[in-house]
Amino acid sequence: MIELKVEGKFYDLAKSVNGVPIKGAKFGKGKRVIFLVAGAHGDEVEGINLVNMLVANYLTKQILSPEISVVVIPIINPDGNIANKRWNANGIDLNRNMPTADWTAEILNPRYPPGPAAASEPESKFMVELIEIYKPFFIFSMHSYKLDMINTNGDCLGVEHILHKKTGLKIEADIGYPVPGSLGTYAAIDKGIPTITYELLRDGSDQKYLEKNRDAIIESLHYLATLER
Ligand SMILES: [Zn+2]
Repeated sequence: MIELKVEGKFYDLAKSVNGVPIKGAKFGKGKRVIFLVAGAHGDEVEGINLVNMLVANYLTKQILSPEISVVVIPIINPDGNIANKRWNANGIDLNRNMPTADWTAEILNPRYPPGPAAASEPESKFMVELIEIYKPFFIFSMHSYKLDMINTNGDCLGVEHILHKKTGLKIEADIGYPVPGSLGTYAAIDKGIPTITYELLRDGSDQKYLEKNRDAIIESLHYLATLER
């Protein structure tokens, strides 16, 4: 993988099934790396918009605490995003294709096809590699859903309370069904990296709503920078 050498510069880090670049950038110089990832479900544009807002209004404008750096992947599933679809170009749900210990080829729900093998998809392979290289301290995985919520995977170190206080979003430790192959399960359960699956409101999030959630994430970044560990 290409090194994210120049701070704030977006690099083409990998290619999707259709050969579209997956872009990413790193902000800050701190050793404690935070991931901000969106667009695993290509049609969930709210998460992508929020990450782009964070880049434009905050990450490129403010100097981050020297403790942290933020690796940003605004669209992990560019093919799905171009087609306005949940799945990648092979029709696979990338948030069921990560190589978790509990991964199964069984299609538990027709909406969530996990693929022929764990990490069979280039987009998932890329995410595995990115985690391997940067060893993130914390991951924000941005999605959107008819109900907005903060879904914690593993011990989220109190970040969930900061987000809840700022946004009023409900904290859910369990979304009600098992999610083998999800980034949350892979990172938190298999790798011990606290991960928040951040479900923004689908099809109803105006600018004010996104700004409120943006500010909540900014406050979480400050908190993560000061956390003793
Ligand atoms: Zn999603």
